[in-house]
Amino acid sequence: MSHSYHRQLVFTIKERCRVCFTCVRECPVKAIKIINGQAEVLNERCIGCGNCVKVCSQGAKIPLNSVNEVEEMLASDHLIAACIAPSFPAEFEEIKDHRVIVGMVRKLGFDFVTEVSFGADLVAQAYEKRLKNEQKGGDISSDCPAIVYFIRQYNPDLVPYLAPIASPMVAMTRVMKKKHGAGLKVVFIGPCFAKKAETEEVDEVLTFRELRGMLQKRNISPENITPSEFDPPYSSKGAIFPISRGLYYTSNSQEAIPEEHVVIAEGRINFKEAVKEFEDGFIRDKHLMLLCCEGCIMGPGTSPGGKRFSRSAAVGEYVGKKMQNIDMETWQRDIDFYSDIDLSQSFNPEDRRLGPASNEDVLQALHEMGKFTEKDHLNCGACGYDTCVEHATAIVQRLAETEMCLPYTIEKLHDSINDLNISNEKLAHAKAALKQSEKLAHMGQLSAGIAHELNNPLGVITMYSNILMDEAPEGAAVREDLKLIVEQADRCKKIVSGLLNFARKNQVNLSETDVVKFLNHSVNSIIKPDNITITVIPNIQDPVAFLDIDQMMQVLTNLEKNAIEAMPNGGSLTVSVEGNKEEVIFIVKDTGTGIAKEYMDKLFTPFFTTKEMGKGTGLGLALIYGIVKMHKGKIHVDSNDDPAAGPTGSTFRITVPRGR
Ligand code: ADP
Ligand code: MG
Repeated sequence: MSHSYHRQLVFTIKERCRVCFTCVRECPVKAIKIINGQAEVLNERCIGCGNCVKVCSQGAKIPLNSVNEVEEMLASDHLIAACIAPSFPAEFEEIKDHRVIVGMVRKLGFDFVTEVSFGADLVAQAYEKRLKNEQKGGDISSDCPAIVYFIRQYNPDLVPYLAPIASPMVAMTRVMKKKHGAGLKVVFIGPCFAKKAETEEVDEVLTFRELRGMLQKRNISPENITPSEFDPPYSSKGAIFPISRGLYYTSNSQEAIPEEHVVIAEGRINFKEAVKEFEDGFIRDKHLMLLCCEGCIMGPGTSPGGKRFSRSAAVGEYVGKKMQNIDMETWQRDIDFYSDIDLSQSFNPEDRRLGPASNEDVLQALHEMGKFTEKDHLNCGACGYDTCVEHATAIVQRLAETEMCLPYTIEKLHDSINDLNISNEKLAHAKAALKQSEKLAHMGQLSAGIAHELNNPLGVITMYSNILMDEAPEGAAVREDLKLIVEQADRCKKIVSGLLNFARKNQVNLSETDVVKFLNHSVNSIIKPDNITITVIPNIQDPVAFLDIDQMMQVLTNLEKNAIEAMPNGGSLTVSVEGNKEEVIFIVKDTGTGIAKEYMDKLFTPFFTTKEMGKGTGLGLALIYGIVKMHKGKIHVDSNDDPAAGPTGSTFRITVPRGR
C-alpha cells in the first residue's frame, strides 16, 4: 500500500509568536520560516514531529484537530472501532484500572475498543522474520511516521532502506477490518499527531489530548461509566512497545536478537545523526530503530507535564499485570488466525530538499550580519540555527532573516541608541534656539512699545532744554547743567532709536551688492584707534549677493565696533568675506579679551552688556541677530577668554544666502 498522504499538521497563529526562535531550534528539518519577525510552519517541509508545538510557550503552534470529524463519525450509523495505542497507561497514569479507560471510551459511542498492541505483536513477528534473513543487511524501522517523512523528504535515496512493514496502527486497522468487515471505521487514539498524516487507511486519528477534551466535554469520568475489558483480539508483549527499545524486542521469540545488530536513536538530534552515519556507510548493516521525539510516552499528543519515568513505570506495571493473566493459547490462536494479513507497506520518495545556496550568496548574507572572518562566527545558536553559516544559508533560502542574529541586532540597537542620542542633542539645541528667539520676539514687542511712548516726551525734553541752554547767559553754571541734560537726552534718544531698530519687524529690502566693496565700506565707516591694525581679506570669487544694504551695514559696523572695544590695549581686527554658490560668509575676527563661557548664551539678549555704564547699551548683538534672521542667515561665535588656553579673541561668522 502506498504512503503518499500529506496533510497540514501544524498551524501557526502569527499574532501569538513572540519571536524567541525556540521552534526554529527544535525543528529537526527547519520547516519553520521567519518572515517579518514571525514564525510560520511550512507544511511542505514539516514532518509532523510536533516538537514546535511542544516547545512553543505562547501556544502559537496549533496541531490539526480531528475532534469534529470523529464526533460526526460517532453520530453516524457506521460501526466504529477505537484502537488505542499501547502508551495509554502513560497518559492515564491516574487511572490504575485500564477497564475504566475502556469504559470511558466506549461511552463516547465507539462500538469496539481495542488495543493497538495486538497489531504490534504481529508487526514484531514480521520484523523478526526480516531480521533473521541473513542476506538482507541493514534497514530503518518504519513505525514512527515522522521518521518515515524525514527519510522520504530529506533522504529520498534511503527510501529503499525503510523496512517495508506496516506500522502497528495500520496492522491493527487491517486486523479490525478483517474481523468486522471493510465497512468498519477505525479511529486510532495515541500520543502522536504525525499519525494523522500517516495513511488514509485509518479513518481518523485522535491524540490523547483530543480524547481527554472529548471526555471532558461530555462529562465522562471514571465515576459515571461501567468499566469493561478491551475487545479482542488480545495482545501480548506488544503492549510493552512504547517503553521497550523498539519492535524487535517486542517479539515473543525465544532467541534474543543480538544487540550489536541494532542502533537505537531517539530525539531530534540523535535520529538525524544516526541517519547521517547510515547514509555515510558507517552503520549500513545495522537495523536503525529511530524515534523523532523522546519516545511515544512523551509524544506531542500526550498531556503536558507528564513525568517520563513515572509514565514508563505505568506502562511497565500494566504489561506486567497483562502478562500474568494472559491466555497464551488464545493469543496464539489469534495470531495464527490473522497471520494471512498483508503487513507490507511501500514508501515512495518525495524530495523536499532545498537547492544548495551558492558560497557567494552565503558570504554576502554573513557580511550583512557583520561577519567577515571566522572569528566573527560566534555560533551562539540564538537564531535557532546551530552555526552562523547554517543561518546565512537559511537566509539565502528565504527561510530566515538577518535580524534573527542576536549579536548583530544588539549592535544595531546600540547604533540606533547613539543616533537617537545625537538627534536628542540636536533637538535640545534647536529648542534652546527657539526659546531664545521667542524671548527676543517678546523683548522686541515690549521695547517697541516703550520706545514709541518715550520718543515724544524725549523730543520735548531735548527741544526745551536746547531752548533753555541757548537762552542761558554764557558762562553761567546753569548752562553747564543744561548741556548735560541735552547730552543725556540725546543718549536716551539713541537708545530709543536702537530699540526701535531692534524691534523693527519690517521686511528686508534686498538689492544687488558687491560684498567685497561693501565690506571695505563698512571698515571705512568706523573710527580706527591707532593701536589697532585692520586687515580686509576678500576671499570670494563671485562677489554678488542680494542684501538689505542698510541693515547689513549695521551688522558689520556693530561687529567691528564690538571687536575694537574688546581690544582696549590694541590688537588686530581681520574682516573677511568668503562664499560658495549659495551663501556669503562675513567673518569678523579680533584678538581682544574674548567672551567668558558663561556669557556665550546671553550675547544676543537685548540689554546684555558687560561694558561700563554709559558705554554699552547691550542692543548691538540683539539687533544683529534680528537682521541676520530676517536674511534667513546664521550667526556663529567662537571665542577664547583664557590666555592659558591659547591666544584670546573672538570670531563672529555671519552666513547669509546670496538671496538670488
Ligand atoms: P554692547 O556692545 O552695547 O555691550 P552688544 O550687544 O554689542 O552690546 O554686545 C554685548 C556684549 O557682548 C558686550 O558687552 C560684550 O561683553 C560682548 N561682546 C560682543 N562682541 C564682543 C567681542 N568681539 N569681544 C568680546 N566681547 C564681545
Ligand atoms: Mg556693541
